[in-house]
Amino acid sequence: MYKYDQIVAPLLAWYDKNGRVLPWRSHPDPYYVWVSEIMLQQTRVEAVKAYFARFTEALPTIEDLAKAPEEELLKLWEGLGYYNRVRNLQAAAQTVMEMYDGKLPADFEALLQLKGIGSYTAGAIASISYGIPVPAVDGNVLRVMKRLSGSYDDILKASVKKQMEKDLLPVIPERAGAFNQAIMDLGAMVCIPNGKPLCQECPLAFCCIAREKGIQEQLPVKAKKSKRKQVKLTVLLLQYEDTFALQKRSEKGLLAGLWQFPNLEGHFTKKQVEQTLEQEVISIKKLEPYVHIFTHIEWHMRGYWIRLQKPILPEGYTWVKKEDLQTSYALPTAFRRYLDFVREEPTGIK
Ligand code: SF4
Repeated sequence: MYKYDQIVAPLLAWYDKNGRVLPWRSHPDPYYVWVSEIMLQQTRVEAVKAYFARFTEALPTIEDLAKAPEEELLKLWEGLGYYNRVRNLQAAAQTVMEMYDGKLPADFEALLQLKGIGSYTAGAIASISYGIPVPAVDGNVLRVMKRLSGSYDDILKASVKKQMEKDLLPVIPERAGAFNQAIMDLGAMVCIPNGKPLCQECPLAFCCIAREKGIQEQLPVKAKKSKRKQVKLTVLLLQYEDTFALQKRSEKGLLAGLWQFPNLEGHFTKKQVEQTLEQEVISIKKLEPYVHIFTHIEWHMRGYWIRLQKPILPEGYTWVKKEDLQTSYALPTAFRRYLDFVREEPTGIK
């Protein structure tokens, strides 16, 4: 594992000279740190400064925040967006009034219980305002750390963030708040996102694996979240004597113009399939389910092997000899899976 303890001293020395002067830092009151951190989620530091001044002037204490009419609250937040953040802020302030006499608890776990406070914000409040040695890991911190350690872990994974919190916990020095803010500042000013980090100005260049290997711009890895649509299909392997039914797909759209086994959208039971076919069936057997993944879509396929008494099919279907299925028809991979069943008959049939 990367030795994070080697970064502490040079990072703090750098921070003492170069740390940013921010309004909420001159009064590291837990309330101020809290409000600023919530505002900084999805908003740039420069934009937050004016909002922070306005907000804390209008609502200088947690009690004021807890009692503020919603109208005023939303007005103060206007332009920052993500209005749930300020609603959660007020709900948490009301809890703090009820449970902690208007003072944010000096306890990481207790902070985590408050609405809208996750491990990063709890870590920031606990370390900056109360000097509690806990990390505050967000995307910026992950970027810096993954470059330092030359790691290709996907930083969008919750497990990666959790592991980073675990790795940093034993490293946090007495100046916990300064350490966490130093990483934040390094990430904002030197080890910057979307572009070349300024490695020549970095106090941690001496121990940075990404710099050593020249892979700074490849890191960190953020794998795109899959937004694939899931479609359920029931595939019908319709057999009459030694022929199987095929259908040509539409000339437009996914797998345009290829051939496919007849299929129904949705997952059908054996009984529903029989009812849908409306003809005499010799036997119907369930096949193993199969998932086929395209870039934007997933087909969750169920299948039935159905032997028919007569070759009755609606228009647009063709009866194809078993041996021609393999060679003469362009079947997409998703349906070729079913050729295996045909080949391996009767294996795969339940
Ligand atoms: S040396 Fe470069 S890549 Fe490594 S931590 Fe510093 S700025 Fe980031």
